[in-house]
Amino acid sequence: MSHTVPNQYRSEAARTLRDLPKVRTSVTSATDNFNHNRLRAYGEIDTDRWRNWARDVKTHTLTNLDHYLEQAEKSLTANGVHVHWANTSADALAAIREVVSEHDLKSVVKGKSMLSEELGVNAYLEELGVHVREADLGEYIIQLLGEPPSHIVGPAIHKSLEDCQQLFHEKFGTPLDGDPDTLAQAAREALRAEFLAADLGITGGNFLAADTGTLALIENEGNIRLSTSLPRVHVAFVGIEKIVPRLEDLAGFVQLTTRAATGQPIGNYISLIQGPQHRDEVDGPEEVHVVFVDNGRTNLLADEEAWEALRCVRCGACLNICPVYRQTGGHPYGWAYSGPIGAIIAPGILGLKEAMPLPYASSLCGACTDVCPVRIPIPELLLHWRERAVEEGLAPKTEELGLRAYTALAEHPQLFSIGGSLLRKLPWQRGGRALPVLSGWTQERDAPDPSSRSFQSMWKDGIK
Ligand code: SF4
Repeated sequence: MSHTVPNQYRSEAARTLRDLPKVRTSVTSATDNFNHNRLRAYGEIDTDRWRNWARDVKTHTLTNLDHYLEQAEKSLTANGVHVHWANTSADALAAIREVVSEHDLKSVVKGKSMLSEELGVNAYLEELGVHVREADLGEYIIQLLGEPPSHIVGPAIHKSLEDCQQLFHEKFGTPLDGDPDTLAQAAREALRAEFLAADLGITGGNFLAADTGTLALIENEGNIRLSTSLPRVHVAFVGIEKIVPRLEDLAGFVQLTTRAATGQPIGNYISLIQGPQHRDEVDGPEEVHVVFVDNGRTNLLADEEAWEALRCVRCGACLNICPVYRQTGGHPYGWAYSGPIGAIIAPGILGLKEAMPLPYASSLCGACTDVCPVRIPIPELLLHWRERAVEEGLAPKTEELGLRAYTALAEHPQLFSIGGSLLRKLPWQRGGRALPVLSGWTQERDAPDPSSRSFQSMWKDGIK
């Protein structure tokens, strides 16, 4: 499946709903599960207090980001880690090319990293002739299928068990009715050889403590643990917003992130990377590199309203609860980050024009903010980007004209009354054909019969 771009969102969402009904079923079922587990896990702790704490720590860090990034660089260097700075995705790719060519690296195992998706690391390394194997089970499945991830935490969330049974039957000869354990065992065996052959491990970074230079990675399968200990070189791509001030902050962030993401009290494996292998250690890489990636994040930070999106810990809770994302999964968004969080960071990172119409892919119901562990005011930021789209002439013209017409009507009660009685006479029940401006809405659903009387006349009569 080819990767799309955000500008194709409307047509790709319509295509998914029309041609791929199984996607909606799979995504809804998986996100229901995530939501159920998150609700239970949030109920086990004083979540509001932890969410306030996490919001405040992230806000403090972002407000003093220059200080904490310098401190992190010093701590990492003291630990023997090589630090690279990448302003753009091209800089980040140049950094890994340098490492690959210096060590003549040929084979990569990669732990799940959305930042590496954002940067296009796999395609770039393959162009250089380096073999790349995704080691997270979900990422492995979609790599075999040639698809991009559909969710931040569950990349293969749009696939059903039957889809996976068919794929594993074709690739590994497992039975067509193989249970999930049988499929996981087949993947484990295939990946074991990849781990042993790899000379480079690539990961992202959930958090990086500035005071000790500790890189924290959360996972459930152990693939990140292996990717960071078996190959002789480890490269971690870390967004500059992933810094936290102190090692002790990790305790709060790790548990809050996993509760929000999967409803677990804590991930099965938490790796705290402190540098390359020491002389008295039995395993670990000879070299560790951290590539700090900006790629538009300082633009976002400079935006007086949109900067709050940088608090994101990529838990995916806002995707799980979003009534828009849940219909299609992540592919129509055309970018590494989908759902509500994708819609508020894409304009900052890609540019508003390139990100259109993602800020409009929301009903503004606010469910995303209710679950966000770092209290990002997502609907407010969506409105912020919509306002900017209107200012820059990027908003859909029909919406702009419609709102202008509505404003004119709403400011003139008599006109409003005439307009209302005209609308009540239109043939609403004919699939909206008489109302081209609403035809997109009525293609998929019946419009309700309008009331026979206007609110104004009911009000005058004391609403009966
Ligand atoms: S915006 Fe909030 S809920 Fe959504 S992925 Fe980020 S931290 Fe999680």
